[in-house]
Amino acid sequence: MRVLVFGAGVVGTAAAYYLNRAGHEVTVIERNPGAGLETSFANGGIVSAFTARPWATPEVPRMLLKWFGRQDAPYLFRLRPDWAQWRWALQFLRQCTRERFEHSQKVSLRLSTYSYGCLKEVREREQIQYDQRADGVLHLFQTQQQLDAAAAEEMRHPDSRFHPETVGMRRAVEIEPALAASEGRYAGALFFPQDESGDAHKFTAALAAAAERQGVTFRYGVSLRRLQANGERIEAVDTDQGRFEADAFVMSLGSFSPLLLRKIGIRVPIYPLKGYSVTIPTDGHDGAPCVAIHEGSRRIVMSRLGERLRAAGTAELTGYDASISASRTEAILDVTMALFPGCGDRAKAERWAGFRPMTPDCLPILGRTRYANLYMDTGHGSTGWTYACGSGRVVADIISGREPEIDLSGLTADRF
Ligand SMILES: Cc1cc2nc3c(=O)[nH]c(=O)nc-3n(C[C@H](O)[C@H](O)[C@H](O)COP(=O)(O)OP(=O)(O)OC[C@H]3O[C@@H](n4cnc5c(N)ncnc54)[C@H](O)[C@@H]3O)c2cc1C
Repeated sequence: MRVLVFGAGVVGTAAAYYLNRAGHEVTVIERNPGAGLETSFANGGIVSAFTARPWATPEVPRMLLKWFGRQDAPYLFRLRPDWAQWRWALQFLRQCTRERFEHSQKVSLRLSTYSYGCLKEVREREQIQYDQRADGVLHLFQTQQQLDAAAAEEMRHPDSRFHPETVGMRRAVEIEPALAASEGRYAGALFFPQDESGDAHKFTAALAAAAERQGVTFRYGVSLRRLQANGERIEAVDTDQGRFEADAFVMSLGSFSPLLLRKIGIRVPIYPLKGYSVTIPTDGHDGAPCVAIHEGSRRIVMSRLGERLRAAGTAELTGYDASISASRTEAILDVTMALFPGCGDRAKAERWAGFRPMTPDCLPILGRTRYANLYMDTGHGSTGWTYACGSGRVVADIISGREPEIDLSGLTADRF
């Protein structure tokens, strides 16, 4: 079958790879000159196989009020006269109940653990190097009360594979010696030894190269404009470089998916949630961590990528405004330099912003649509790298007429 994949982010690239392995003739259309140059470019770098969790938690409404009006708030809703934004914000807040959080959490871990297995298989088969580390993740907490509450929450999980080690700061420093400089500022940590980290852009570019070697065609520098529907099917897609036809189409444009879909009458609640990262060169310095870090009070993650330290976080609801806010990137740098004063040269830090394609329940949308030959692989939110390989595999299985290896309840478009 001829399959067109829309978008060469980590999600579209993984889908193209699996579709090719399933024997299809695959073309990827991407407006940038290479793969993984938008949201998949400089993310937090954590493969949260065992810690993937929805952001819609019962604590979010309280956090929004606590930080209201502050430019450096971890969650910042800049509400505009945009009905899609208000609707998304209300739908998101409705997900912030314990019951809905626990449901989404279960679905999230089902996909993240499956996807982790797929990622390991792919990197071994294709010999992909992406500054990966398998040192685990330490979640740091400032007070004993916060640590106890978080530990109790994690231990509720019936499967002990997901239970972290609760550690005091002395043990945390044994796990990650670079924490010695800020040992006194935290009460303790939860250690998740199985989670990994690495450079999502390097991974995406290497996976695209492997897919290309195996026969996938990447049409870079081509902008999609409109899908051509005919009755129950999609016939073709119009681009700035002409019309492309295929037998099946995969929507993986991340935050831009709803813009094309609504022109053919499909409404999906995906909204861009802007996040930021800073990347600090660490060469010549010895104070950067190797273990990945999650700083609980400001919701910032840090990962070591070779001779660089990446720190990422914050969520800003502000439409498709891609500008980089100095106050928000400085806030991430402040937290990082306070934790690891000897990590690198702050003046040389690279600043970046990207749009997380968020659904209200923070889970992706996978599988069929009302058009018989249009499939979704989009809305991967804050955990898209972690979910990408599993999602690509699932979508390739569906298109090939095979039963996916995981249960898809909670992940299909009909839940909205
Ligand atoms: C600050 C931050 C930190 C994060 N940290 C992590 C983390 O630690 N771990 C994790 O798992 N995830 C993390 N994420 C989430 C993850 O990066 C995303 O979920 C993932 O990159 C989304 O991939 P995607 O392929 O769906 O989207 P994208 O990477 O945005 O790809 C979509 C592609 O579609 C193309 N496109 C769009 N419109 C058109 C058009 N009209 N024509 C042609 N091409 C088009 C774009 O150019 C783009 O390349 C983070 C995100 C952010 C912002």
